[in-house]
Amino acid sequence: MAGLKFEHIYKIYDNKFTAVNDFNLEIKDEEFIVFVGPSGCGKSTTLRMVAGLEEISKGKLYIGDRLVNDIEPKDRDIAMVFQNYALYPQMTVKDNMSYALKIAKVPKEDINRKVKAAAEVLGLEQYLDRKPAALSGGQRQRVALGRAIVRNPQVFLMDEPLSNLDAKLRVQTRAEISKLHEQLATTFIYVTHDQTEAMTMADRIVIMNNGVIQQVDTPINVYSKPENLFVATFIGSPQMNLISGKIIKEDDDYYMENENVKFHISQEKALKLQDLGYLSKDIVCGIRPEHIYDGFRKTNSTLIGKVDFVELLGAQQYAYIKCKEEKITCALSVENLLEKNKEIKIYLDEEKMHFFDKESQKNILI
Ligand code: ATP
Repeated sequence: MAGLKFEHIYKIYDNKFTAVNDFNLEIKDEEFIVFVGPSGCGKSTTLRMVAGLEEISKGKLYIGDRLVNDIEPKDRDIAMVFQNYALYPQMTVKDNMSYALKIAKVPKEDINRKVKAAAEVLGLEQYLDRKPAALSGGQRQRVALGRAIVRNPQVFLMDEPLSNLDAKLRVQTRAEISKLHEQLATTFIYVTHDQTEAMTMADRIVIMNNGVIQQVDTPINVYSKPENLFVATFIGSPQMNLISGKIIKEDDDYYMENENVKFHISQEKALKLQDLGYLSKDIVCGIRPEHIYDGFRKTNSTLIGKVDFVELLGAQQYAYIKCKEEKITCALSVENLLEKNKEIKIYLDEEKMHFFDKESQKNILI
């Protein structure tokens, strides 16, 4: 078991492309860290640098107290699980799981004991003599996990391990990996582009874009206190509504206004924004679809719009409302099924609104 420390890590490929840009992070021992971000943001490259599969261009990487920049992958005491499982097709499950230990010349009894223990943890006992071709995708991924577990590494690295599984199996295996992390009490670094995986599994999430860390925080904080527009719109589905406009003051009340909408904003937030010089300046207001309601709420912030279209999901309905040309997405309960083209009054939770600087894109009030 070990923590990790990334100090000003860069990956600059031979073609001069900077895939990872000044990456700084401390991962605590036994922590479950998820790197998340859109395709090409540099998350796999970062993981591969930890594994030693990719050279670090600049900066220092420590696993535990050991500087590992120049340490061979096999000597880093890590185990990696890949998206495509990377099992040996001609070997049985048992041999796949034993292979690394055999190479390391671990005594046979120890190998058998470790494989048996890992197979028990993963529910693979009855499959030990099968070959990978005779297993389902989920079972294969468990073998890949088993092969990592038997090595008892200090750090588990996982690169999109669930992306080849169907939706149902993905949910199930997600829970199994979380349980495994609890049982093994080892540091996990997990790469995904799926925000639900990140939110449900991580102790802390590292959100990346264009090779740069955007925010490192707990799932609840990246959701409720996104540091910038990128994080605000990347986390949460449907995406946070963003409304550009200006804050204006009328008597003692403050409003967000543009050519399509005008809605009340909380006095407390408005005063802070005013102190920071944002009155009458271009600003972006963000509000999540689930913080807008179609039934009465105690709020001064309301809008009238027209239902553009509705998606019924069963437990919820997503309503796309047009207030003149401003499109607002609402995630509503299904008590009141909305109809297209109907006029509707919506209630916005003023306490849940975010305000972003138009230029820096930073969340101003956190
Ligand atoms: P994905 O989810 O699609 O795997 P990712 O966030 O894991 O994306 P990386 O695989 O880390 O992204 O790639 C980061 C960037 O580095 C991408 O823009 C990619 O095109 C670029 N890249 C990767 N390998 C090389 C290489 N050998 N030479 C040049 N550029 C590379």
